[in-house]
Amino acid sequence: MAKAHPRTPIESGCPDGIQYMHPVMRSNFGQWKYHEDPQPGVLRHVAKGGDEIWTVRVGTQRILDLFTLRKLCEIGDRYADGYVRFTIRSNIEYMVADGAKVALLIQTLEDEGFVVGGTRNSVTSISHTQGWLHCDIPATDASGVAKSMMDELVDEFKSWQMPNRVHITTSCCQINCGGQGDIAINIQHTKPPRIDHSKVANICERPLVVARCPVAAIRPAMVNGKPSLEVDERKCICCGACYPPCPPMQINDPEHSKLAIWVGGNHSNARSRPTFQKLVVAGIPNNPPRWPEVTAIVKRILAAYKNSAQDWERISDWIDRIGWKQFFELTDLPFTKYHIDDWRYARKSLNSSSYIHF
Ligand code: SF4
Ligand code: SF4
Repeated sequence: MAKAHPRTPIESGCPDGIQYMHPVMRSNFGQWKYHEDPQPGVLRHVAKGGDEIWTVRVGTQRILDLFTLRKLCEIGDRYADGYVRFTIRSNIEYMVADGAKVALLIQTLEDEGFVVGGTRNSVTSISHTQGWLHCDIPATDASGVAKSMMDELVDEFKSWQMPNRVHITTSCCQINCGGQGDIAINIQHTKPPRIDHSKVANICERPLVVARCPVAAIRPAMVNGKPSLEVDERKCICCGACYPPCPPMQINDPEHSKLAIWVGGNHSNARSRPTFQKLVVAGIPNNPPRWPEVTAIVKRILAAYKNSAQDWERISDWIDRIGWKQFFELTDLPFTKYHIDDWRYARKSLNSSSYIHF
């Protein structure tokens, strides 16, 4: 009998990034001696063997039209030997082996209307989730919030005036791809889903939807003689997790889906331990196309941080030192009873997190 050959795996993941690196970076991989920051938006890395490479960081609005993308690539061909990379925060970076080209590259970028910055103690570009263009469940446009906010924070992107680096994130639903940030802007639903009972039986896998609820608030039910679902509104935490598997459980609402601001999140353990962000403002209008209310509050938090934090304190370190009471005083934000998690099942839901156990 012929020997069976094992199936070979089909590689469909991310390609190996090494092949796309600038040759100077590739040949000095793991051999860097030090790096410095000659000016905002520029890094200079020096290898043990003496090679040098400059990185020029440029902010983008992330959702790029073809013409802008072509222009950015054409500039990369001209000054960076055709090598560019995008950062997780939608910045594009040019790697330049010849230091004499750096000033010319920056001049060309600025002449074309791009901004150079986002390094060291700046407010770097906002990392954000997909928003209206690419996802089927968002309650706001994270990309639009990021663009309108960065338009107002562009001077902080181009300079080194903050006590330390500021990472801002935005997320357009409450359950999936939002991130931790020094300042995080997240959607916040305030009402339970409205159920279109005429559609549930045709569209939704009811056991799947019941299992999806983190607080067991959904039950199967017969409504008007048809199989449907019902929500125990005393338990519902308005998270929106039932909406993706069951669109007839509509939770997005122009009035009741709000924005909330959380502060003090930090993934890094460089100087202090990673921290969770905490809610500081809730119920901000979800007001496209410029979301001015949320931008005004973010600017107020940044101003207080800039004036009161010591050098190299991240926002979480600053709040740890001054205390939450003073944070609310300095930012002139109201502290209300809604900041206290007194939900009757909170202990159970916190206990289901992989980080917190009682
Ligand atoms: S955060 Fe939610 S709505 Fe936004 S892109 Fe991710 S899954 Fe979609
Ligand atoms: S919104 Fe969240 S808590 Fe409320 S019923 Fe849906 S899944 Fe459950």
